Amino acid sequence: TTPAFWRVADRKRLYMADLESAIMYTLRVEAARFLFLDREHLFTLKQYVAILVKYFPGRLIVMNYLRNLDHWLRPRTNVSNSEWEEALRNKKELPYAWLPETPTWVGCQGSKSEYRGYPCSLWTLFHLLTVQEAVASPRFTSSSEVLPTMRRYVHYFFGCRECADHFEGMAAESMHRVKSKDGAVLWLWSRHNRVNARLAGTKSDDPKFPKIQWPPHALCWSCQLIINGRRMWDERAVLRFLKSHFSRRNIDMAYVT
Ligand code: FAD
Repeated sequence: TTPAFWRVADRKRLYMADLESAIMYTLRVEAARFLFLDREHLFTLKQYVAILVKYFPGRLIVMNYLRNLDHWLRPRTNVSNSEWEEALRNKKELPYAWLPETPTWVGCQGSKSEYRGYPCSLWTLFHLLTVQEAVASPRFTSSSEVLPTMRRYVHYFFGCRECADHFEGMAAESMHRVKSKDGAVLWLWSRHNRVNARLAGTKSDDPKFPKIQWPPHALCWSCQLIINGRRMWDERAVLRFLKSHFSRRNIDMAYVT
């Protein structure tokens, strides 16, 4: 169905509403699907919430919610679905804490309800987190903690199992070669482009938002070079662009409630 209300979005910007909706969906929907969170799921969820607390450039009210949850999760060794739902209702150790209960898609709004939305926002969230991690410690080349967390999250929780299998295939093939945080930013960007190439023109492609090799020239004119008639990425320019696109100051607060 076509959305009744169209939220105007600028493709040059990120939207806090999408990012908060992604977090809401991971915690309130995907992590809440399990009757019981076993060791592996719990370990993954702890890592995921910990990297959100560390790197998500969120509003104070949302960061307080995440800190509460992180604090609650840390000592747990097993968690039932009802305990998880109870924890999400929020004990408010830190007051002024909140996370949306329903999603609002802005930059990720699809032309029909079956398009875009959550998967779009999950990509956006993890690109943002890899960049925030890289800019938080630019001088150190130590490896990323965000990328392996995304790998585990997708493997254990992402509802699209076919997507999770494809992603795990790419991760198993080359993620071990990523040695730095900048490398993690570029790995995720290049693998996302592979997914875009594979999905272009398929039924999951929103005709109003066709899958392209990203960023297009209009977003970054210096990211692509023509060498001997072939179009190539200039990875240094791409990295610079990604650090600016997925920066805190590029997050638009439109439609946050
Ligand atoms: P998305 O591809 O979701 O991208 C979201 C936004 O990110 C874009 O609007 C753009 O602003 C930006 N962006 C685009 N490309 C890049 C890039 N290379 N680097 C940084 N930012 C970029 N669907 C399937 O049908 N089969 C699959 O196997 C599959 N695997 C997936 C694996 C993962 C881990 C995820 C999160 C999703 C997967 N999906 C898969 C869903 C699919 O990739 C899209 O998310 C979905 O079709 C919505 O597409 P979209 O047009 O909103 O843009």
